[in-house]
Amino acid sequence: MGKSEARQSALRSLPSVDALLQRVQGAAGLKGIPRARVVRAVREVLVGERGRLLEGVRRAGAVSPLDADALARRVVAEASRAGAFSLAPVVNATGVVLHTNLGRALLSPLALERLRRVGSAYSNLELDLKTKERGSRYAHVDGLLRRLTGAEASLVVNNNAAAVLLALESLARGKEVIVSRGELIEIGGEFRIPDIMRRSGAILREVGTTNRTHLKDYADAIGPETALLLKVHTSNYRVLGFTAQVPTRDLVELGRSRGVPVMEDLGSGCFVDLRPYGFPYEPTVQEAVAAGLDLVSFSGDKLLGGPQAGIVVGKAELVERLRKNPLNRALRIDKLTLAGLEATLYAYEAGNAVETIPTLRMLTERLAAVRRRARRLLRRLSPSAAAALGAALVEGRAQVGGGSLPLVELPTVALALGTAERPAQRFDEALRNGEPPVIGRIADDRLLLDCRTVLNSDVPALADALSRLVE
Ligand SMILES: *Cc1c(COP(=O)(O)O)cnc(C)c1O
Repeated sequence: MGKSEARQSALRSLPSVDALLQRVQGAAGLKGIPRARVVRAVREVLVGERGRLLEGVRRAGAVSPLDADALARRVVAEASRAGAFSLAPVVNATGVVLHTNLGRALLSPLALERLRRVGSAYSNLELDLKTKERGSRYAHVDGLLRRLTGAEASLVVNNNAAAVLLALESLARGKEVIVSRGELIEIGGEFRIPDIMRRSGAILREVGTTNRTHLKDYADAIGPETALLLKVHTSNYRVLGFTAQVPTRDLVELGRSRGVPVMEDLGSGCFVDLRPYGFPYEPTVQEAVAAGLDLVSFSGDKLLGGPQAGIVVGKAELVERLRKNPLNRALRIDKLTLAGLEATLYAYEAGNAVETIPTLRMLTERLAAVRRRARRLLRRLSPSAAAALGAALVEGRAQVGGGSLPLVELPTVALALGTAERPAQRFDEALRNGEPPVIGRIADDRLLLDCRTVLNSDVPALADALSRLVE
């Protein structure tokens, strides 16, 4: 047979698009995958196979075509590879409670319920029901924020980075903002105070040194061009040893005496004093407001435990300037976030935040409860699976994450995996690519599945995923 005939014959063996589609119809692996994606996969598989056949004939004069079942399996694998949805739940077994890459705070049941209710119906988002006039979307959380923080006014935007940008643009465009050198931080994810400052059009006036800044440094720097004194929480790092920062109250007093507003970017912004749960002292939002700061900004999805948002509270006149800034329209918060945020704030007012907000519950959960969950996970493995995994419970340290309380280490219990024959790296990769994906951390050649961040409801699926590793 000549090459041209061999080519013809090889290509004739390829099924048509329709025939291959027909063959994969109803395949279990394609449940929930849109037909358009399956058609694309069929085309891709056929193009690939066609190329392989032609290449085979060119090189060897002949080639054996794949049978239709093999092609169908390829289509199913290709079309379902990424699952029906790209953004999907994972099991956080890293022990980092506020993990930015894993979506930070989980929403409370009430927040989820409000999201569903508000998202599935029309709402009074911007309608004042009493007067039938246009209302303000911010009104739905403004009362709560004022009552909880003691501030005169509030504004909520897309995230805290946006809140800082908006405040600087509104108050200090073309003017100077004084910041301590010890607080010129990078949070990660492109948030650097000097960069945000430049973007806002404000001029950075650095004072003090990396480790020590005194009130006099601020006082000497204030001039006719000064628009704001900015204090920034050093969130994810600490300068230890020979250090000095200016207490908020002193800075506030200086600002007041010189007629310059004082703002603090609190970063995480917590409403509850976590000291009774063994955490070090961190000023709460209420305390920051009570110290007299003119503006305080913080995130919605860090220690607050709500949806992504940036919250600004403070003096009414300044908040009004932020609200009226046209930039605010571009940073504005959507109705689903508002619904989730209102429910989150409601829990603080109702006094059940620590019990109902997942972030706070995980941070304050007793070691004994974490250990019980770890034991339950281990008990769900058959003895032979546990042995093959090299599974053992180990005590360790979990982290708060999200740039919050960087020095705090939470006692925790992890399930450690890995044996000489079956290295931890392989388990790690298989779990990450499984369903549901499981994200752990590797330490000393063991894969640690930290149970502080594993949800009770994750335990059955996690145990199944572990059993499948050694089946
Ligand atoms: C996290 C953080 C930010 C950024 O907050 P987002 O809500 O992630 O935009 C800004 N400033 C400080 C001090 C932070 O810790």
